[in-house]
Amino acid sequence: MLARNPNLYSHRRIVEAAEARGHTIDILNTLRVTMNITSHRPEAFYNGEKLTGYDAVIPRIGASITFYGLAVLRQFEMMGIWPLNESVAIGRSRDKLRSMQILARAGLGLPVTAFAHDPKQASEVIRMVGGAPVVIKLLEGTQGIGVMLGETENSARSVIEAFRGANVNILVQEFIKEADATDIRALVIGGKVVASMMRKGGEGDFRSNLHRGGEAKSIRITPEERSTAVRAAKRLGLNVAGVDMLRSNHGPVIMEVNSSPGLEGIEHATGKDIATLMIRFIEETAIAGKTKTRGK
Ligand code: ADP
Ligand code: GLU
Repeated sequence: MLARNPNLYSHRRIVEAAEARGHTIDILNTLRVTMNITSHRPEAFYNGEKLTGYDAVIPRIGASITFYGLAVLRQFEMMGIWPLNESVAIGRSRDKLRSMQILARAGLGLPVTAFAHDPKQASEVIRMVGGAPVVIKLLEGTQGIGVMLGETENSARSVIEAFRGANVNILVQEFIKEADATDIRALVIGGKVVASMMRKGGEGDFRSNLHRGGEAKSIRITPEERSTAVRAAKRLGLNVAGVDMLRSNHGPVIMEVNSSPGLEGIEHATGKDIATLMIRFIEETAIAGKTKTRGK
């Protein structure tokens, strides 16, 4: 497993599940893997030792180290080690604009979203998504930090102008009010939704992130939500994905597809052993040398 912090709940659970099923699993600190990227026989090293003998790699690459982490994962793919999620697929999901463009092309429901470079175009962008209130998101935000509600045209415009003036990338989205500060997380493994939960924002917050004080409970999602989640994961090429959706008046809309979904919230909300499902999927699917993209 490529992960920086072995003590995180999700990482501990994956190790536990792997060991319980008789596997040997090493946790490698992604940032400490070194590699010779020009050798025609790709190699990777850890503490000066060459890495060999692995059947599969579980990438748990944090958003802040995506660039180096994906280079390491590509190296493993070039070495023929099967990845639970491929580098190209993770790269797609980490880029909000790219992933939304891919999902839109597939005809999947998304909140109406606009993006512009020039702060002078703030009004146009607000108009494009149907006028205030609008949701403004930092492109680099995670865990709900950097998600704002622009309640009026004026406040939305000044927020957009301020961020764009400071050269911060943002996207502007229609506000799905009817979602009522609630979102749905569907966990997809190998083309199936294996668990789903509903998250509700803390008092007075339109954001439902657990990190922002939201609460989670297990739910049964509709067939349409299920197929939306499965198709989103498939389009991005992810074997494992946490698909976040809002219930809008025009059906499920996807907010985000996470390629390293956390296990704590969903295991506690649903009582399911997601870590074991991940390990079993690897057992059934991993074949040396069989990555779809080999990092390309
Ligand atoms: P992050 O990736 O930082 O978690 P999200 O895009 O998932 O950011 O947004 C955080 C929360 O804000 C969501 O879980 C949802 O509850 C709320 N939210 C995000 N976008 C919208 C929207 N367009 N309309 C209504 N609520 C939204
Ligand atoms: N080959 C492109 C990639 O590397 C295609 C992605 C897409 O579907 O736009 O991801």
